[in-house]
Amino acid sequence: MIKPQKEQDMLNHLDAFCEVLHQKCRLVYPNLNDDDSKTKIFYPACIVTCKYNDKLYDGRSKSGTVDIPFSLDKSINKILENKLLEEAKLYKTELFKATTYQGEKIYVGSCAEDDAANQLLEADSTIPPTFSLSQIKFTQAIRPRTKQEWPYCRVCQEIFGEEDGNP
Ligand SMILES: [Zn+2]
Repeated sequence: MIKPQKEQDMLNHLDAFCEVLHQKCRLVYPNLNDDDSKTKIFYPACIVTCKYNDKLYDGRSKSGTVDIPFSLDKSINKILENKLLEEAKLYKTELFKATTYQGEKIYVGSCAEDDAANQLLEADSTIPPTFSLSQIKFTQAIRPRTKQEWPYCRVCQEIFGEEDGNP
């Protein structure tokens, strides 16, 4: 399981990212408020903030038309890619496509958690060979349009969660 972190710096980062999205949405849809269903297409389904080595990264799910890049579209870090493929038993060409995982329909690699972790892995050159994805801390994921908390998907639970046997 992933333990959602409540550290203030992480929560502030997530709030600020959410606010950026709302401001961008108001530029695109000046006459609509965030509750209008027409703005739905603009927002990523989910956002999250992650932390490792005191560095913070915001991630967004692949969905949504907002002009903030989804980092895995450009390049996916090998550590993350290998773990996703191994966990979901997929070939590389099957990433980001709908698949059934433990009975749940999932787009593997398309989550906000993947985006945040990917940015971290690509940016942090100090990551040791013993690094495990479970060492990355995450805030609770939220739906940016409504600010509702949103559960982590099963694949994220597996690849970013505590290893079995850890308290
Ligand atoms: Zn996920």
